[in-house]
Amino acid sequence: LITIDHVNKYFGSAHVLQNISTHFNAGEVAVIIGASGSGKSTLLRMLNRMERHDSGTIIINDIEVDDDLRHLSALRAEVGMVFQQFNLFPHMTVLENITLAPRRVRKLSKEQANIEALQLLERVGMLDHASKYPFALSGGQQQRVAIARALAMKPEVLLFDEPTSALDPEMVKEVLDVMKELAKSGMTMIVVTHEMGFAREVGDRILFFDQGCIAQDAPPEQFFSAQENPRIRTFLGQIN
Ligand code: ATP
Ligand code: MG
Repeated sequence: LITIDHVNKYFGSAHVLQNISTHFNAGEVAVIIGASGSGKSTLLRMLNRMERHDSGTIIINDIEVDDDLRHLSALRAEVGMVFQQFNLFPHMTVLENITLAPRRVRKLSKEQANIEALQLLERVGMLDHASKYPFALSGGQQQRVAIARALAMKPEVLLFDEPTSALDPEMVKEVLDVMKELAKSGMTMIVVTHEMGFAREVGDRILFFDQGCIAQDAPPEQFFSAQENPRIRTFLGQIN
């Protein structure tokens, strides 16, 4: 579904992604971990063109990620993103947050968009909150709405950038449970997270980023239980 081929990214003289090549299959859950500044967010942001790569090729569902505006609009529909800071529109209700893009981009009628939004809210356990504004919701509730909003575009892949890092501990589980359910339903997901329990249980692959390189790409069992790389062992020791 996603092919990344010899991709490089520089910020000024900093070479923040160094000749990255990998492939993600449909239905796969890939978890990305690694130290601060290793390029995790930058990679995600390149996949939906919030950031441009300097060389190499990225292809998502047969669409090349480049400056072609038709590619860009197709890409925005195929690739959903969930951020650490929820990023809901504060002046819109939950229902309006979710229906905005489907109405504008998918050209759904208000009625049809509402029907789909309510189904998604039920799926993330937020049906009772449809008419509330984001400020009236807890962080965990806001993040579940943000996931519903991303799903409303019916994307082929969902990217998560530390979706639980801004949450109080008691709210982490409700968000991870929604993500787990999504994974079970066959959604293709690339998740940057420090939640090692989730990584181990839900991930099909763990990618370890180190200074702009993919230092390791392994199944969770091998990654966590048979880790031979001393740098990664040290990293795992620090976050557990
Ligand atoms: P964290 O775990 O802290 O979120 P990360 O792995 O997501 O880190 P990135 O945000 O991808 O790391 O950043 C990779 C490198 O690129 C860092 O050195 C960062 O300072 C740099 N960088 C990121 N965005 C920009 C930018 N817009 N301008 C300049 N440098 C940037
Ligand atoms: Mg980051």
